[in-house]
Order: sequence, then C-alpha cells, then structure tokens
Amino acid sequence: LSFSSCNLPAKLEHNLESAGYVIPTPVQMQAIPAALSCRNLLVSAETGSGKTAAFLVPIISHCSQIRSQHVTDRKNPLAMVLAPTRELCVQIEEQAKLLGKGLPFRTALVVGGEALAGQIYRIESCIELIVGTPGRLIDLLSKHNVELGGISVLVLDEVDCMLQKGFRDHVMQIFCALSSPQVLMFSATISLEVEKMVRSIVNDLIYILC
Ligand code: AMP
Repeated sequence: LSFSSCNLPAKLEHNLESAGYVIPTPVQMQAIPAALSCRNLLVSAETGSGKTAAFLVPIISHCSQIRSQHVTDRKNPLAMVLAPTRELCVQIEEQAKLLGKGLPFRTALVVGGEALAGQIYRIESCIELIVGTPGRLIDLLSKHNVELGGISVLVLDEVDCMLQKGFRDHVMQIFCALSSPQVLMFSATISLEVEKMVRSIVNDLIYILC
C-alpha cells in the first residue's frame, strides 16, 4: 500500500510528501484503508509507530470531502480526537495542522490550563477538528459552548488510559453526546479488560495488532 493508492485529496498527498511521509508505516498501512471505509478500529500501536497520522489522514480526507460537498452551511466540527494529556493534544494538533495545510481543515485545541474564552471563540469560528482532553471538553459541554452533533469521527488516543477510572466517566459522557460516530481507538497496550469494555460500547470492531 502507498499513500497514493488511498485516493486521498491531492493536497493531503502533497502535505504527506512535504512532511517526509513517503512510505506508510505498518500501522498506517492497516489502519488508513480500514478507517477510510468507515470501520470502527481498535489498534494496538506503540508511540513512534506513526499512529497519529494513521488517524489524522482518514480524518482530514473525510473532512475535506464533506466541506467540499457544501452539503451544509453550518460549520460545526466534524471530528474529535480525545487524548489524556495537554502535551499529547498539542502534538496531535500540530501534526493535524501540518497535514491539513491548504485544505478546508481547521483545528481547535481544547485543553486545561488556558483561558476558556479563547477556546470557545476558536470552536465557534468554523473548524473541522477538535483535539482535546476530556475534562476541558466536559466544561464546554456543560456550559453548552460546543455543538457536537456533527461529529462523525471520534478518536480515543491512549484508549487504555482513557477508560481508566478518572477519565472513563468523562469519556463516556462525551461519547453519549455524539450521534453514532465512527470510533478509532489507539493504544500501546490493550488489556483484556479494556478490549471487553470497548467491545461493549462499539459495534463491528476491527482489531489491528501492530
Ligand atoms: P507517532 O507514532 O504518531 O508519534 O509518530 C512518530 C513519528 O513518525 C512522528 O514524528 C511522525 O512525524 C513520523 N511519521 C509518521 N508517519 C510517518 C511516515 N509514513 N513516514 C515517515 N515518518 C512518519
């Protein structure tokens, strides 16, 4: 598999090349085609395996396709990535900006430790992707500052951590606010307990071991 055989927007293909992503990594080879065919995924992949691009490439492709169809004038976010730490969210958003350059693909970072007002303004200013931590998103949801009805792809990065006590209730609350999104889940390690939990909330899962 190559990126050019995935029928990606030309600009995205160009951005991948500019970033030096010539050959897809093993996790990308498996996850990108499956995600592009709208499947739910549970992927076991280490940090450093290229897992971030494995979920960003299909998301960028999906978002730019939807926006170019002009099916709606409302510009609510279309995809959301949840990750456990602010640092991880920052890295994911940076890669999203790099790969989405020049496309109708704008991002909002929704993490703690920064003023809420700026993040609310950003979310309301027509974006495609939210990258955030569960706690801050719950803040926004409870204040009705974010409309999640248009989210059709949800990523849970470090899903093992996201389903632990402390995060689980927030993650489930956010999940329940969405209307049957495609779900892409990634983690370095996936315990049996996490796999069971994931299977109980997501149907027709493809399990990818890298
Ligand atoms: P990640 O596992 O997402 O943290 O990615 C690890 C590193 O690999 C990041 O610095 C990416 O920029 C880089 N990377 C991801 N995919 C590719 C690829 N197909 N070719 C070369 N580098 C890549």
